[in-house]
Amino acid sequence: MQGYLFGEEGEKPSVATEAVSAAEGLAALSATSRECRKCRLAASRRNFVFGEGNPSADLFVIGEAPGAEEDATGRPFVGRSGQLLDKILLAVNFERKDVFIGNIIKCRPPENRNPLNDEIDCCMPWLLEQLSIIRPKIILLLGKVAANTILDNRLSMGAMRGKLIRWKEFDCFVTYHPAALLRNPGWKRGCWQDVQLMRTHYDKLLSAGTPHDRNT
Ligand code: SF4
Repeated sequence: MQGYLFGEEGEKPSVATEAVSAAEGLAALSATSRECRKCRLAASRRNFVFGEGNPSADLFVIGEAPGAEEDATGRPFVGRSGQLLDKILLAVNFERKDVFIGNIIKCRPPENRNPLNDEIDCCMPWLLEQLSIIRPKIILLLGKVAANTILDNRLSMGAMRGKLIRWKEFDCFVTYHPAALLRNPGWKRGCWQDVQLMRTHYDKLLSAGTPHDRNT
């Protein structure tokens, strides 16, 4: 999968060249993928939600699927959940523009039901393409559906939170989905601990020169 995701080892591009090529690559992928009609969700969507943020982000935040406000606007994590996600990220010194934010599923499931397995199978290649272009070092998985899907397990949140989990080339952390935090404010403390752990790991990679070493 390394080859599929990142290509062969070779001469590394300059920072500017890589940033431009990542932006161009994402723009091209967005243009192609928004025409997608590979699953039944294409019929009911108002807007395709590609995701947004820094094309060269070292942190990729992944949720489950667009909700009503995301479907209405075509943007990920807007509305109350999005505002809370912004606060969560800011609490550990990330602004939205620093990271890339997206979902496993790009079109809204009706009534916000969980995505079905065949919908996930259809949509995952778009996310894998995004990862191959952005090449983050760290992935923050929001909620059980996103975490179980990416990590290919059926574990509980309790079994996945509070630790670094390696998936492919990425260091992953799991925390609660902001919508779940709005319903269960008592979980916010646990979320804070999760993102602090993630930030500490990010800083450790940064101090070792790892997060941006692909750009040097
Ligand atoms: S959910 Fe994904 S696979 Fe289904 S139509 Fe939308 S973009 Fe295509």
